[in-house]
Amino acid sequence: MMSDHSQNQVSSLLRKKQACLVSEETDQTPAASPLEKDDRFSTLHLAVLCVCLPGLVLYLLNKYVAEDGSQQLAVATLWDLNSFLILVGFVLFQAALYLLPIGKIVKGKRIATGERDDYCINGFYAFLITVVVLGGLWFFDLVDVTIGHDKCLQLAFSGILVSLFLSIVWFLKSFTIPKEQLMNYRKKRNFVQEFCMGRELNPKFGKLNIKFFSMLRIAFIGWALFILTILAEGVERNGRVSPALGLVVVFQLFYILDALYDEESILFTKEIVNDTFGYIMTFGEMVWIPFTSSLQALYLVHHPQELSYLQVAIIIVIYAVGIFIYCHSNKQKNNFRRDPQDVAFTNLETIDTGTGKKLLVSEWWGWLRHPNYLGDIIVHLAWSLPCGFSHIIPYLQLLLCVRMLIKRATEIEEDCHGRYGAAWEEYCRRARK
Ligand code: NDP
Repeated sequence: MMSDHSQNQVSSLLRKKQACLVSEETDQTPAASPLEKDDRFSTLHLAVLCVCLPGLVLYLLNKYVAEDGSQQLAVATLWDLNSFLILVGFVLFQAALYLLPIGKIVKGKRIATGERDDYCINGFYAFLITVVVLGGLWFFDLVDVTIGHDKCLQLAFSGILVSLFLSIVWFLKSFTIPKEQLMNYRKKRNFVQEFCMGRELNPKFGKLNIKFFSMLRIAFIGWALFILTILAEGVERNGRVSPALGLVVVFQLFYILDALYDEESILFTKEIVNDTFGYIMTFGEMVWIPFTSSLQALYLVHHPQELSYLQVAIIIVIYAVGIFIYCHSNKQKNNFRRDPQDVAFTNLETIDTGTGKKLLVSEWWGWLRHPNYLGDIIVHLAWSLPCGFSHIIPYLQLLLCVRMLIKRATEIEEDCHGRYGAAWEEYCRRARK
């Protein structure tokens, strides 16, 4: 999943420090140490990212949308009340759907602050209802189906403003809760670190669990709607769906629907369990994921590519291999974590960690240490290939995904080694990196 996921890259900078601080027994701020230099670096890094990432999103969108090369990046052009209302309406509509009594309520994993929350699992239904409602509005001529494409710069700009506003709200709200519920309360961090990375692990408004809600409902449903509107623009321009654009849209929609269908599995991810929710993550879910993940489709509308039957067949095979590895290995691990006694696992080899948990060491998880990451990277490659090789931007998401997953693999391995010790070492001996 973020998957891109620049916010994850940023958050990993501070994670190691958070992890070791949380495990400390004392309630004292650590004395000044060699970490200070590191802190200064991460503060500067965060400040630069906060300023540059929103600019980068607008730059990339403008590059494709403004075909005549004109710059539309002046605030007067970027600000559009209708786009702002559409974006706010979308967020409020998704919040209302989250609170509807459909789907199931699931107890999540115990998170780093010790809480164990209830989560409403109805993201897949929320997506279907959203598509039906938008389809109805379009059928009755109440909404222009290409508006997301036409106003993408203005929508992204509104997303930047809204994520900034909401981050200020989370930040101020975090001062109203007991400090023991904050992830890093033992450490004095500066304003930039606290604002960008967040103070609270699990901010909530009533029943709305903000982080969980943002990760799939805003980021992934937003991404899906954006590629659908780009597809509509492609049809309007060319009178048909080109094979290249069709492949990208189908591949990405399948990936999104899989994540929404198995929404429960994100409760096991480290974003939910360990990561605080601040500006970087709010911006990532509201702007970075929906808009930069759609760059391949946007590119193809503005730079149509012809693919031969052979090329189409090769790309489909690459995607099929990647998505099979991705889905199957993730489901195997998630189901094993949910119910290790399930009959599906009786013939699989496992390693006992001595902590009440076991590690799978058969099939995907015996072959590779992170088979799901390999699948994810192949999938990202497959939906970039239809764009050809004349431009790097359609490959940006793939490059970030590779970098992000390499970093994540290191963090997960350090974490598992810390918790499972010799059992993890045994696992590493048996499963290749
Ligand atoms: P992982 O899927 O790597 O999950 C790590 C956890 O899995 C470990 O902490 C451990 O859980 C458990 N685990 C690891 N090895 C085993 C094993 N052999 N047997 C049983 N359990 C094991 O991490 P994520 O949650 O980070 O990733 C989930 C998915 O999201 C991945 O497919 C990834 O590709 C995708 N993703 C994509 C991104 C992108 O940029 N495209 C960004 C982030 C995620 P425990 O602690 O319970 O022991």
